[in-house]
Order: sequence, then C-alpha cells, then structure tokens
Amino acid sequence: MSSVAASRLPADQDSDLSPLSVAGEVAVIARKELAPLAAAIDAGTLYPADLLRRLGEAGAWGSHRPSNGAADLRCAIQSISALGEVCGATAFMAWCQNTLVWYAANSGNPALAGKFTDAAATGRILGGTGLSNPMKNFFGIEKLKLKGRKVDGGYVVRGALPWVSNLGPDHWFGTIFEIEGRSGEIVMFLADCADPAVALQPCKPFLAMDGTGTYGVQFRDAFVPDNHVLAEPAGPFVGKIRAGFILLQAGMGIGLIRDCIAIMNEVAEPLGHVNRYLQQQPESFQDLLADLEAETMVLARDPLNADDGYWRRVVALRLNIGEAGVAAAHAAMLHCGARGYLKSHRVQRRLREAYFVAIVTPATKQLRKMLAQA
Ligand SMILES: Cc1cc2nc3c(=O)[nH]c(=O)nc-3n(C[C@H](O)[C@H](O)[C@H](O)COP(=O)(O)OP(=O)(O)OC[C@H]3O[C@@H](n4cnc5c(N)ncnc54)[C@H](O)[C@@H]3O)c2cc1C
Repeated sequence: MSSVAASRLPADQDSDLSPLSVAGEVAVIARKELAPLAAAIDAGTLYPADLLRRLGEAGAWGSHRPSNGAADLRCAIQSISALGEVCGATAFMAWCQNTLVWYAANSGNPALAGKFTDAAATGRILGGTGLSNPMKNFFGIEKLKLKGRKVDGGYVVRGALPWVSNLGPDHWFGTIFEIEGRSGEIVMFLADCADPAVALQPCKPFLAMDGTGTYGVQFRDAFVPDNHVLAEPAGPFVGKIRAGFILLQAGMGIGLIRDCIAIMNEVAEPLGHVNRYLQQQPESFQDLLADLEAETMVLARDPLNADDGYWRRVVALRLNIGEAGVAAAHAAMLHCGARGYLKSHRVQRRLREAYFVAIVTPATKQLRKMLAQA
C-alpha cells in the first residue's frame, strides 16, 4: 500500500472486516492484480467484472453501509483512492458499485434492502447509478429523461439515459423517473439490465473510461415492481444520499493526484535540473493533497448530516478535488516532457482520467452553479 494511504486509514470504524485490513487488502489487489490490467481497461478491451467481484469479496463495497442511523465513508473512499492510484477507470467503477450499495442500504423499502444490500456489498450483484440526469434536473440544468406510469404492483417506465456505467447483462442500477402527468413527482428505483425491456446500447469510444461497462440505456415500457422501488417520493431520499454520492467521488480524485505526484517524483532524477523551473512542483501538490484528504476524512465521517453548511463543504470539496486533479495531471505531463508524450506512458492516461473527474456529474460547471445558488 502507498505510504499516504497507510498513514490516513481510519482506525475506528465498526465492521466485520477491519477497515484497515479492507483498504490495505484493496491496495494490494490494486498493485498486484489491477496494475497489469489497467492498460486493457483504458483501451476498452476489458471490463474487469471478475476483479470487481473479487474486490467485493475483500470487503471493498461493504464498509459504508449505515448502521443505527449513522454511516462512515472513510474506508470506502480510501479503498477507491487505492484503486485510483493505479487506474482511474476502475476507481470510477468502484464509485458506481459503492453508490449502488449506498442506495440499497439507505432504502426504506425492506424487501429491496434485504434482497440487494448484502448482494451488492459483497460483489455478487454488480452495477451502478443513473443519477446524472436527475442530479442535473434538481439544479435546473435539464429535464428528467424517464417517465413512469402507475400500474398494478408497480410502474411502467419509458425513456432513455445517454450514459450509465459499470453495467452488463445481469447488472442493476439506481435511477429516477417522473410520474406521467404529475410534474415534479419522482420515484427512485433499481433497474434490472436483464429485463428485455431495458436495452443496453454501446457508446461511441470515449477519451477514457472505455472499459467501464458504459452504455446508453433505453427503457421500453419496462415494468418496475414495487419491491424494486428505492424511494417514493424520491425527494427526501435524494436529500439523504446526495452527500455520500458526491463524497465517494473524492476517492477517484485523491488516487489520481497521488499518482501524478509520484510521476513528477519519478522524473525528478533525470529532469529535476530543468523541471525545477516549472511553476508547479510536486511538493505543492503534496500539501494540497494533504488538505483535501484531511477535509475528505472529516466530512466522510458524517455523510447523513442534513446541515446546509455541511452540504456546502461537500460541494466545495468536490469542486476543489476535480480542479486539483486536472492541475496535477497537467503538471505531471509537463514534468515528464517527451517521455510522457508516448502513448504507452501512464501520465497521458492520467490526464484523460483527470478530465473525467472534472466532467462527471456533478461536473465542474454544475458544482460552480450549485455553490453560486447555495
Ligand atoms: C464515460 C462516461 C461515463 C458516464 N457514466 C455515467 C453513469 O454511470 N451514470 C450517470 O448517470 N451518468 C454517467 N455519465 C454522464 C456524466 O455524469 C455527465 O452527465 C456527462 O458527462 C455530462 O455532464 P455535463 O454536466 O458536463 O453536461 P453537458 O455535457 O454540458 O450536457 C449534458 C447533456 O447534453 C446532451 N449531450 C451532450 N453530448 C451528447 C452526446 N454526445 N450524446 C448524447 N447527448 C449528449 C445530453 O442530453 C446530456 O445530458 C457518464 C459520462 C461519460 C462520458
């Protein structure tokens, strides 16, 4: 495990598997099993389902389940960051999987929570989240794309989401529809990719993230039974899960920044004599990272906090992490020079991954809008 990860692990979370051993085990898996796969995942030739299941067995998706009305995201974020140090795409899939668990574990629907929480937390069920469109809708950026109509025993849902990740033919994801003819009335549910009325459409190649199982998803009058409803009405539930949804993304950025600092340090020996004239140096990113990690760990202790000031800190942290990631990857490129311009060098992958952290919902522009309106 990296020294940074080791020094900042939470020590007092309650869990069957101690958080220290979970994040440590994830870091070992990242280094030994994920590192050899990172290039294929980046190229989109591999979606690492087996690895994601193995990480679930190691406890990577289970530590943030709430207990007695409280939850602690520190171990989950440290685990995501250990993966992100090696592969940004896998850190993103880890976030997707963790959101699925977060939704099921916080649901007030006992049938759903019982069926899905442990199965997703242990990696027996894989999947993610289709909340980008609703999250943008809540802040006045776009209209809801899914509509549902009440029928006996559930709803019939239609519409399409342009991008949902960590999917496959037997995967699940949480998303939201608006009830037809009842503007603003929303229901959050788990969608079953095995349903023939839920069609996964391959996406055009991306700048990065091609190995993340990302699809366009069409709902062609898909039946959603009541026992797959996460929350109805969904508004209060979204208020409950939104800080955790955003905070878990911190792990993607933290892992990426750690590796960008490592890359700058790796080229210090041959190129330090001239790199020292660059405006941005690894030491300043190390200080910035320490501040961002400290704030993340404070906020991650209390993700169900409903206070407005707390929410504002979460949004500001997420914005700062996205911007710091792009800055660190840009600086790492400049430190590497020509050797980093080779396609085979991981620094240009880090730059492409950094832009994803800055554009995935809530994107930099949305975060700025949220802060402006808060
Ligand atoms: C690789 C990848 C994986 C993603 N995974 C998920 C996920 O798991 N879950 C999830 O909910 N969201 C996912 N998204 C969406 C993501 O979170 C953002 O919503 C998206 O990047 C755009 O956000 P934005 O705020 O910058 O919006 P903008 O890009 O400014 O505009 C967003 C809207 O413009 C339209 N649009 C723009 N470009 C296109 C295009 N090429 N094709 C179709 N419509 C377009 C769409 O209506 C879209 O909602 C993913 C996106 C990418 C690129």
